[in-house]
Amino acid sequence: MIEWTRPDFFDHALCSSPDVDRKLFFPEEAEKRGGKTDWSPARAVCEQCQVKTECAEWSISTGERDGMWGGLSPSQRGRIRRARDKIRPVTSLQPGWERDADLISYAVVELTRRLRESA
Ligand code: SF4
Repeated sequence: MIEWTRPDFFDHALCSSPDVDRKLFFPEEAEKRGGKTDWSPARAVCEQCQVKTECAEWSISTGERDGMWGGLSPSQRGRIRRARDKIRPVTSLQPGWERDADLISYAVVELTRRLRESA
């Protein structure tokens, strides 16, 4: 069994508010029944959350597979992880470039999402 450690940023998580329905962040059940996942209600909450960046980075680095975290769906996190895997071998040649790899991969996925939404 995998042990789950509650990250510190969760103390400031907007989704921990009693006013927010946590089920918004885990709608996969609908998808499993053949429906399409609508992440927009959860993403709207994340956009207002003060720990969005920490949350997104935590979910990517821990390999979190389910739910919406930091405004990113599971497929978006997967694309970021794959982009990082491709960029890391290049950036590891230069000390201190690992963080740049993280920023570049996040920017690529975010740009792709925005282009898709504007199409
Ligand atoms: S960014 Fe979204 S999932 Fe993460 S703590 Fe904030 S509201 Fe919750």
